[in-house]
Amino acid sequence: MIGTGYVGLVSGACFADFGHVVTCVDKDASKIEKLLKGEIPIFEPGLDDLVAQNVREGRLFFTTEPTEAIRNADAIFIAVGTPSRRGDGHADLSYVYGAAEEIADLIQGYTIVVTKSTVPVGTGDEVEKIIKKRRPDADFAVVSNPEFLREGAAIADFKRPDRIVVGTDDERARELMRELYRPLYLNETPILFTERRTSELIKYAANAFLAMKITFINEIADLCEAVDANVQEVARGIGLDNRIGRKFLNAGPGYGGSCFPKDTLALMKTARDSGAPIELIETTVRVNAARKQAMAHKIAEAMGGDVSGKTVAILGLTFKPNTDDMRDAPSLDIIPALVAEGARVRAFDPEGMHEAKGMLRDVEFAAGPYECVQGADAVAIITEWDQFRALDLARVKAALKAPVVVDLRNIYNPAEMAAKGFTYVSLGRSHGSIQTQERPSNQQNPPVEPQVFAQRRPNQTPATPRSGPYAGQLHAEIEG
Ligand code: NAD
Repeated sequence: MIGTGYVGLVSGACFADFGHVVTCVDKDASKIEKLLKGEIPIFEPGLDDLVAQNVREGRLFFTTEPTEAIRNADAIFIAVGTPSRRGDGHADLSYVYGAAEEIADLIQGYTIVVTKSTVPVGTGDEVEKIIKKRRPDADFAVVSNPEFLREGAAIADFKRPDRIVVGTDDERARELMRELYRPLYLNETPILFTERRTSELIKYAANAFLAMKITFINEIADLCEAVDANVQEVARGIGLDNRIGRKFLNAGPGYGGSCFPKDTLALMKTARDSGAPIELIETTVRVNAARKQAMAHKIAEAMGGDVSGKTVAILGLTFKPNTDDMRDAPSLDIIPALVAEGARVRAFDPEGMHEAKGMLRDVEFAAGPYECVQGADAVAIITEWDQFRALDLARVKAALKAPVVVDLRNIYNPAEMAAKGFTYVSLGRSHGSIQTQERPSNQQNPPVEPQVFAQRRPNQTPATPRSGPYAGQLHAEIEG
């Protein structure tokens, strides 16, 4: 396994767990040093135990020196990074090509070289050319095997994937790939064998589609705010249709992370360069970028429009829960926009702060969620970590200078938040605000009328309290 990052380490550990002997190679000596000491350089639930067990049982090894590992391998996976190339959005393939050169110089006997990194169409052809040029005598096949795991659930995704995609027309390579994935094959996981170029495109098409689905529900959330509808119920109502499906329909602050932003850009670039631009993806990229800025505006609006000199507490920095990955996290756009408006920002994240400290300037980091909200003028939830779903709200309210909660993940119930006296802003749930306007009958003179509002476009009238069909009915929770 060349590259021992989020994908390489998880794939390596899982292949070892399937019974294969795996050596994970990385150029980053500090990563390998940690792994050799039994430490896991990233946060991924369950990975520490899986690695420890397979190391103990003599199937999983780590090194910075690839020679032996490559010489002895039947299959070599390339799992190095393919970040966006500065300037044009194309995938930077220098790490992939660098790995191909190293592999070329060392392979012995029939070997398959499998690209697990996400790479644009035609990269496999290029890898093949590089190896052939350096080693005209080599007996090898280049295979595409894109990875679909999600950080935070990576082990389960690797061991119980929806499908495995393998791109090659080499029969021996197919056999070897079947053997490598044998435990899954026996479990009837579909293995899609296809052409290499098609396999490469499947990965981009999948990520672009999911990014588009997220962006779609985000725009529907905006519409819900404009027309007093509830995005969670819309999502449930459409998601129960099997043709649409329920996943990736949670409104949020815009997609981020190590894959969707760079992969949508790279697909856009490939499509344009090939004379077949994909307008849906171009629009998705544009809408998503604008949304992150709009979220900073939403927080400011909830605080009365001017954040200058005010303190905003931010809960959650990583692009999603259960990872320490900060790459292209929405917080990296939202926080600087607030700071630029003069806000003081104090942030807390259970796993992401170490990374975030090198990426965010002018931010104070807190030791925990309650320290974070202490004395703040508002709190914004950007990442839905479990511990933020179960906050002691009385304690939060007592700690805040003003009881303003901006929930960019819709993890709280608007009615309950209003009943607790918060000014609560969430995404696309105007009906939540309507229900909360109803006063409990035993409460004669509530001290402060709780205010719940959604961000509105300037020409819109505010939501009017309404009884009727939604009275007393809580918004539908999305399951799963
Ligand atoms: P990463 O940055 O975490 O890890 C890449 C590793 O490769 C680094 O540790 C780097 O030091 C190492 N490396 C680079 N060149 C090397 C070389 N020549 N020899 C040895 N090591 C080398 O990246 P990642 O998140 O694991 O992503 C890897 C690929 O998988 C990318 O193409 C990504 O798009 C794709 N992918 C990522 C995810 C995800 O959730 N992170 C999911 C599916 C696919």
